Amino acid sequence: MNSTSLLSTLSANTEAKRSSSTDEILRLNGIYKRLLSKAGVKLFEGEGKIVGQNEVEVTQLDGTKLSYSAKHILIATGSRAQRPNLPGQELGILSDEALSLEELPKRAVILGAGCVDEYSRTNIPSIWAVGDVTNRVNLTPVALMEGTCFAKTVFGGQPSKPDYNNIPYAVFSIPPLSVVGFSVEEAIEHTNGDLLVFTSSFNPMKNTISGCQEKTVMKLLVDAGTDRVLGASMCGPDAPEIMQGIANALKCGTTKAQFDSTVGLHPSAAEEFVTMRSETRRIAAGTKAKKNL
Ligand SMILES: Cc1cc2nc3c(=O)[nH]c(=O)nc-3n(C[C@H](O)[C@H](O)[C@H](O)COP(=O)(O)OP(=O)(O)OC[C@H]3O[C@@H](n4cnc5c(N)ncnc54)[C@H](O)[C@@H]3O)c2cc1C
Repeated sequence: MNSTSLLSTLSANTEAKRSSSTDEILRLNGIYKRLLSKAGVKLFEGEGKIVGQNEVEVTQLDGTKLSYSAKHILIATGSRAQRPNLPGQELGILSDEALSLEELPKRAVILGAGCVDEYSRTNIPSIWAVGDVTNRVNLTPVALMEGTCFAKTVFGGQPSKPDYNNIPYAVFSIPPLSVVGFSVEEAIEHTNGDLLVFTSSFNPMKNTISGCQEKTVMKLLVDAGTDRVLGASMCGPDAPEIMQGIANALKCGTTKAQFDSTVGLHPSAAEEFVTMRSETRRIAAGTKAKKNL
């Protein structure tokens, strides 16, 4: 293949990737619109603006304006990335733009990006806010949880607060990494007694046939006094899929003894989480938290 045809193949591949991600976004938007419509929600597309405690003005796509009044107003407008005041920040890109990168950068630094009361109510009683606009935990399922709690509180007669404990996080890199619960530093701050750290680094059995040397690493943090599992993390294939299940166990207040008595699923990488018998280290109560433990 000569350089001209290689370039045109690369450019065609990039265009194909771009159009497939745009198609996916359009497909998802279509699904959400259908879900809203089936739930009896009347949708007006345009830019909303709160013009009073119970008044919203919508500038529709054709420029015409509509005004509505409502007993309750929910703001769910997401947020925009803020660039830090650092030298060279103009060379960085926003996460949305990362979806259109033509090449994987050799190195990348990822820089992570207020509501009112616990029920998502603002200081104006008729106005509520959920999701990224409140800058609490900026993740899709968290926005969903906050929206559900809002609906239960305001329309379901069940006052409900979002629970921010044990939210699982993932970085969908290759290999992916995923965490749930406390980090070592947070666990040190939140436990009165000693903290047990269980770690494992291994080559998953499925790699042994292919000869692939991609290691998986795992960590469990356990309160030595109560035996409660306080946090889990993993870097390796399928980490987010595995961590979703571990998040459920942590939400139920699982103990290390319960992990140890869980029957493994063999030969999976996940079974390592239920076979880590000896702690790698014990952090004595009162130890000052350090970074990168
Ligand atoms: C590149 C990228 C990747 C991400 N990956 C993940 C991931 O893997 N997992 C995960 O859990 N989260 C992920 N997130 C975060 C996730 O997208 C957000 O947490 C989630 O979308 C927040 O939902 P939201 O409803 O608050 O806001 P949004 O989803 O941003 O929705 C807000 C909507 O309001 C509209 N809007 C804004 N102002 C107005 C106005 N005045 N009038 C009318 N409409 C308005 C916006 O156009 C937008 O459509 C990612 C975010 C980005 C940017």
